[in-house]
Amino acid sequence: PERALSPAETGDDDRFDRLFRPASLAEYVGQAKHTENLKVFVEAARRRREPLDHMLFCGPPGLGKTTLAHIIAREMGVALHVTSGPAIEHKGALAGLLTKLERNDVLFIDEIHRLTPAVEESLYPAIESFNIDIMTGDGPYATTIQLALKPFTLVGATTRTGLLTAPLLSRFGHVVRLDFYPVEELERIVQRSAGLLDVPIDAGGAREIAARARGTPRVANRLLRRVRDFAEVLGDGAITMEIARKTAERLEIDAAGLDEMDRRLLRVIVDHYDGGPVGIDTLAAALSEPRDTIEDVYEPFLLQQGFVGRTPRGRVATRRAYEHLGIAAPAAKQG
Ligand code: ATP
Repeated sequence: PERALSPAETGDDDRFDRLFRPASLAEYVGQAKHTENLKVFVEAARRRREPLDHMLFCGPPGLGKTTLAHIIAREMGVALHVTSGPAIEHKGALAGLLTKLERNDVLFIDEIHRLTPAVEESLYPAIESFNIDIMTGDGPYATTIQLALKPFTLVGATTRTGLLTAPLLSRFGHVVRLDFYPVEELERIVQRSAGLLDVPIDAGGAREIAARARGTPRVANRLLRRVRDFAEVLGDGAITMEIARKTAERLEIDAAGLDEMDRRLLRVIVDHYDGGPVGIDTLAAALSEPRDTIEDVYEPFLLQQGFVGRTPRGRVATRRAYEHLGIAAPAAKQG
C-alpha cells in the first residue's frame, strides 16, 4: 500500500525530486555542519587538481544523499555517473563503469551495501590505487591484465553504515551521516519548493507542512504537492495553515507527523506485545513488512522522536508512544 508519507521513493517522486533538487551547496538547506566541511574539501581538491577523497553518505531515505552527490560533482566541475549496488551485476559491469570515468569524475553508487561480494572485492584496488584487474580469455588461456584508471571519487550512499563490510567502510576518507532535519529547515525547503511550483504559501502553511514531514525533505516536498491539490480544489490555490492541516487530516497524518503505518507499528508493540520488548523479526511478521523496510524506513524517525526504544531484547514502546495513542501506560512503564 502506498503511504502518504513514505520517505522511500514512490510514483512520480523521481520527476519532482529532480525539479526540487538544489544545484549548489549554497542552495542546499541545512546540515550546516556537513556542508561547511564539504565546501572546504571541494575547494582544497580543486586547488590541487585532485579528486575528492572517497565519500560515504549515510542516513534514512529522502534526506538528500543523491542531491549531495550531484552538488559535489557540479562544484568540482566534473561529471557525475550514477549507479546502484544492485545494478552492478558482475565484475565486468563494474570495469565498464570505471573505465568510462574521466579524471576526477564522481562515481555515485546508491545502496552501496548491496554490491555482491565479488564486485565489492574488485572495487577495492580501484578505489585504493586506481587500477583494476580484468580477465581476458577463457579456460587455459585466461589471464588477468591490470588496467590503470584515471583518478576518481567514489561516493557511496547507504541507509546504515552497519550494513557495509569493514573493509569497504574503511576505504572511505569521509563518512557523512545525515540527520533528520529540524522543522525550521524543512520550512525553508517547503518555501523554496513552493516557489519552484509557483504556488502561493504563507508562513503558517509552510510551518504546518514542515512539522508533519517526518524530518525528511522528500516527505515535505510530497506533502506540499498533496496540499497544493487540496488548495486548488477546495480553496483558491493558496496554501495556508488551515488547508495544510485539513490535508494532513485527510491523509491521516497526525500532529506529530506520524501516519497510519507508524501508528500501526506502535499499536502492534503496545497491543500485541504489551509494550515490548519485541524482536524486529516478530515485528516485521506482525506488520507483514520486510524487516529492512522497518529498520530503514519506518523505525529511524520513531526512534529519533522517542516513540520507540531499542533494547538488547527488541523494540519497546515508550511512554510517549502510549501518550500519543491515548492509552494508559502499564505501571511498570510509567515514570
Ligand atoms: P534516497 O536514498 O531515497 O534516494 P536521498 O537521501 O538520496 O534519498 P534525495 O533524492 O537527494 O534523497 O532528496 C529527496 C528530495 O528532497 C529531492 O527532491 C531533494 O531536492 C530534496 N532535498 C533533499 N535534501 C535537501 C536539502 N538539504 N535542501 C533542499 N532540498 C532537499
